[in-house]
Amino acid sequence: MHAVRTPVEDRFDDLYLYIDGEWVEAGNRDTSPVINPANGRVVGRVPHATHEDVERALSATQRAFGVWSRTPAYDRAKVLKRAAELIRRRAAHIEWLMTTEQGKALSEAKYEVASAADYFEWFAEQGKRTYGRIVPSRRAEVQQLVKRQPIGPVAAFTPWNFPAITPARKLAAALAAGCSVIIKPGEECPATALAIGRALEDAGLPKGVVQILFGVPADISAHLIASPIIRKVTFTGSVPVGRLLAAQAAQGVKPITLELGGHGPVLVFKDADLDAAATLGAANRFRGTGQICISSTRFLVQQDNLEEFTQKFVAATKALKVGDGHDPATQVGPLSNPRQVAKTQALIEDAVARGARVLTGGKPIPGPGFFFEPTVLTDVPLDARVMQEEPFGPIAIIRPFATFEDGIEEANRLPYALGAYVFTRDAQTAIRAGDELEAGMIGINHFSMIVSELPFGGFKESGYGSEGGEEGIDNYLVTKFISQI
Ligand code: NAD
Repeated sequence: MHAVRTPVEDRFDDLYLYIDGEWVEAGNRDTSPVINPANGRVVGRVPHATHEDVERALSATQRAFGVWSRTPAYDRAKVLKRAAELIRRRAAHIEWLMTTEQGKALSEAKYEVASAADYFEWFAEQGKRTYGRIVPSRRAEVQQLVKRQPIGPVAAFTPWNFPAITPARKLAAALAAGCSVIIKPGEECPATALAIGRALEDAGLPKGVVQILFGVPADISAHLIASPIIRKVTFTGSVPVGRLLAAQAAQGVKPITLELGGHGPVLVFKDADLDAAATLGAANRFRGTGQICISSTRFLVQQDNLEEFTQKFVAATKALKVGDGHDPATQVGPLSNPRQVAKTQALIEDAVARGARVLTGGKPIPGPGFFFEPTVLTDVPLDARVMQEEPFGPIAIIRPFATFEDGIEEANRLPYALGAYVFTRDAQTAIRAGDELEAGMIGINHFSMIVSELPFGGFKESGYGSEGGEEGIDNYLVTKFISQI
């Protein structure tokens, strides 16, 4: 695989911690490398926060909460809208940073940065609508008010697969509600999150309201979650880490929002548009090189269509152009890190050892970079690991089903309930499937699911608490009633 020869490493942003309005350089602190996944080269080193850094951030977040929570929602909205505008103005640079540190195709980075800006704009307006109510009382002299107020300082943890949208969803909603936030983005992709922090600072956010830390994830999260200053936790990432953080938050009886993994079924019914299901399905499955929690992973095809769908899907997969995300022709970039290559390979080997057939792909692409062939598997037995665990890499599975009930049963078999998709031309089938699928987000005849005005989230082991939409701000508010004579 040939990486595009752009002098990307020379132009990469310097990396800092952002504490109490100060951009803190590494100095004597530990650092970890940031690697361009398209060629394996180190593009920067991210500083790790010390114990004292985290303590300083905690004091600052407490102080800043006092300021920001008392700032009128109208004024908070102005800052958030300016930040959205600055992100849009700086989009070309942020997209470029993201592709360099995360690997995704520039076209996807473009979409992601635009979407991150949308979250700030949407929540700027929602912050003005955290209405309370007056409830008629049982006594003439009593006034009863129900008010919603910001919950307090928030600790937010975001992953490396969506380095702009995942911080934006949490920051925008929390800031609109009046909370201060300490965020620890993924260490693999720090520059994108820092660029969002810059936009917020330049938009006029008072110091300490948002702070950005990096480090050893388990150390930072344990420190922040145990602090009595932090009143709310929010995490996007894997199920095991979500479980761990939920247990830590429970010690302080702190609410937590969890957006965890998925294993998205796609039900292709006998009356489906097979061309659309196959071409949109392959594009969706290999978007982000398969490292997307709501990705379509299990293509469940009603028996009569199996052969035709499989042919079309394999052809669409083979037509995808794999390469350096900076090449405008690239549709599928590298995996984000060597862990993902090893995990993807292990899942395929396990499936093949149990009788699965590889219809295309199946192997890592020799370096430089962490590339992997888009892979389609069939005849995968249910006891294969890939039929249980989220395949967070470029693996699509095709399986037949007989009746509507069989399809729904397989779709709902796993402990996940995040994204699910249906292809049918029959309105009744669409309605029934929408009702019976266990998933927080369901796409019927299409795959576009991430927009700021809609709730994003799942249930079962995929987590709880919706981000985005009207629901998104609820995560950061408490309800009080005041009864007054
Ligand atoms: P991981 O489980 O080690 O980490 C997942 C995320 O949590 C990373 O961003 C990591 O920095 C963070 N993290 C890990 N331990 C933490 C802790 N104690 N406190 C706070 N944050 C912590 O695995 P990984 O190798 O980075 O990713 C592997 C799997 O995670 C993927 O295969 C996928 O299933 C899942 N994942 C899901 C999402 C999502 O959007 N839901 C995003 C990234 C990863």
